[in-house]
Amino acid sequence: MRLVILGGPGAGKGTQARRLCHQLSISEISTGNVLRKAIAAQTDLGLQAQPYVEKGELVPDEILIEFMRQRLLQPDAAKGWLLEGYPRTAFQAEELDFLLEDLNQQLDWAIYLEVPETVMFNRSARRSHLPEENPKDSLPLGQRPDDRPEIVQRRIDLFHERTVPILEYYGYRQRLLTINGNQPPEQVQHEILERLS
Ligand code: AMP
Repeated sequence: MRLVILGGPGAGKGTQARRLCHQLSISEISTGNVLRKAIAAQTDLGLQAQPYVEKGELVPDEILIEFMRQRLLQPDAAKGWLLEGYPRTAFQAEELDFLLEDLNQQLDWAIYLEVPETVMFNRSARRSHLPEENPKDSLPLGQRPDDRPEIVQRRIDLFHERTVPILEYYGYRQRLLTINGNQPPEQVQHEILERLS
């Protein structure tokens, strides 16, 4: 199974990604986590991405597209995958389709976790005070500058501006599953699995 999970900051993408990958025995590829770890380790990718991530801006498409091309060629990707945080722009969505065409593969579904903007804001801003609630990457507080309130708002604005068009892209191709993300994680997972089967 090849899946993409979409939603604004704090929509629950990371939590659902973990649960679904475990349940479906597929690989989780989270660009946000990859980038934060690359920044912490100061790798080439990390150094390129750092100025953007710290401001809540999107890392340029070319950098992410090239990363994804290499990542989907790794052996563990053969068993299926779920992408979290990618695509983030309509351009990345198109490029993903081109890449999959090259690999002779197809995306099964794009899962959209729909939550009100106030929920996105409260959940994301809360992370910076309660890092233990964010097990997706156990980096210390000081390495989560992108969870400051003004940065969270910027990420929400970018979600509306850049990611919402992706919903249209997948909707038009009849690949979109819209799920109410404003309910307990178990319920969200249950609904997703029901819709996938
Ligand atoms: P996330 O944890 O998914 O919210 O990602 C954290 C940050 O990583 C974002 O605010 C962006 O700066 C960067 N990022 C993650 N995925 C992408 C992507 N597909 N395209 C551009 N930037 C990204």
